[in-house]
Amino acid sequence: MKVIEHIENGNGNTQFSFEILPPLKGQNIQQIFDNIDPLMEFKPPFIDVTYHREEYVYQEQENGLLKRKVVRKRPGTVGICAAIQNKYDVDAIPHILCGGFTKEDTENFLIDLGFLGIDNVMALRGDAVRNETYFTPEREGHKYASELVSQIQALNKGKYLDAEIQNQAETDFCIGVAGYPEKHIEAPSLDSDIHFIKKKIANGASYIVTQLFYDNEKYFKFVNKCRKEGITVPIIPGLKPIATKKQLNLIPHRFSCELPDDLIMAIVKCKDNNAVRQVGIEWCVAQSKELVKAGVPVLHYYSMGKSDNIRTIASELF
Ligand SMILES: Cc1cc2nc3c(=O)[nH]c(=O)nc-3n(C[C@H](O)[C@H](O)[C@H](O)COP(=O)(O)OP(=O)(O)OC[C@H]3O[C@@H](n4cnc5c(N)ncnc54)[C@H](O)[C@@H]3O)c2cc1C
Repeated sequence: MKVIEHIENGNGNTQFSFEILPPLKGQNIQQIFDNIDPLMEFKPPFIDVTYHREEYVYQEQENGLLKRKVVRKRPGTVGICAAIQNKYDVDAIPHILCGGFTKEDTENFLIDLGFLGIDNVMALRGDAVRNETYFTPEREGHKYASELVSQIQALNKGKYLDAEIQNQAETDFCIGVAGYPEKHIEAPSLDSDIHFIKKKIANGASYIVTQLFYDNEKYFKFVNKCRKEGITVPIIPGLKPIATKKQLNLIPHRFSCELPDDLIMAIVKCKDNNAVRQVGIEWCVAQSKELVKAGVPVLHYYSMGKSDNIRTIASELF
C-alpha cells in the first residue's frame, strides 16, 4: 500500500515508522530482523531502508603510491526490502539515489522494485562521495532529486527511456522526498531550498520526510513556510535520539542541524554513554509527544540499526 494511503487510513492518528540501514557487507540479515522484531508491536505501516553508494578507499602500495579502490560497504537495500515485505507483511521503502546511477540503472532498479511488489520509493540525490566536496552526477545520471522524481513519475505513466519498447507497462510508485527544517547544507537559504522542494512535489512526489532535528520549533516553522509556498503534501518529521557524547559534534557536522543548549548541557553533564542514551530518550519522547499533539501523520525514527532506545520511546507513545 502507498504511504499516502496509510496516512489516510490513520484517520488523523499519528503512526509509527522507522528507517534501517543494510548491514555492513559480510554480516548476516538476522541482525536486521533482531532490530525490527522488538518494534513490530507498534505496528509500523512502513519501514524505510537506506541506500549506500560506493565509496573510494585509498590503499598504500609497496612503492608508496596510493591505489584507489571502489567499495560498497552496505549493499543489500533491495534484498532487505523484499525480505521485510515477505517476513513481516509490512511495506518496505527502498531509498534510491541519483548518485552512482545512470538513468538506465535507475530504470532497471525501478523495474526490479515493481516486480517485487514494492509500492513506495524515497527519491534522493545522495551526498558527494567521501573525499569530494561537491556532488557529481553520473554522466548519464540525474543532478537533482527533482529529476529523479520525474523519471519515476514518467515510468508510472509507462514512459521508458527507449520509446520503442513494446507494451510499456506502467509502474505505480508513491514517491517520497527529503525536506530540511534547517535547510540543506548546500542551499543558500531556506526559501531557496523550499523552492526546489516544491519542484520535487510538482514533478510527482507525494510526501516529504524531514532531516532529523532537535528543536520542534524548526519543524513547525518549516511546515508553515512550505504551506505558504503551496506545498500541501504530508510532511513527516524524522527524529533520531542522541545516544553518545561524540554525537554532540558529529550530528551538527553530518546533518547540518543545531542542537538546543538545554540538550547540549544535559549531555555534557553525563558521566557515560548510558546516561547520554537516557537523556537522548527523554528528549526524543518530549519532542515526539509535542509532535503528536500537533497532529503529525507519522513519527519516523532513524534507528541506525539499534532499536532498544527507539523501542523505549515508542512504548511511551504508541
Ligand atoms: C529522509 C532522508 C533520507 C535520506 N536517505 C539517504 C539514503 O538512503 N542514502 C543516502 O546516500 N543519502 C540519504 N539522505 C541524504 C541525502 O541524500 C542528502 O542530504 C543529499 O545531500 C541531498 O539529497 P536531496 O534528495 O535532498 O537532494 P535535492 O533535493 O536534489 O537537493 C540538493 C541540493 O540542491 C538544491 N537544488 C535542488 N534542485 C536544484 C536546482 N534545480 N537548481 C539548483 N539547486 C537545486 C537544494 O536546495 C539542495 O541544496 C537522506 C536524507 C533525508 C532527509
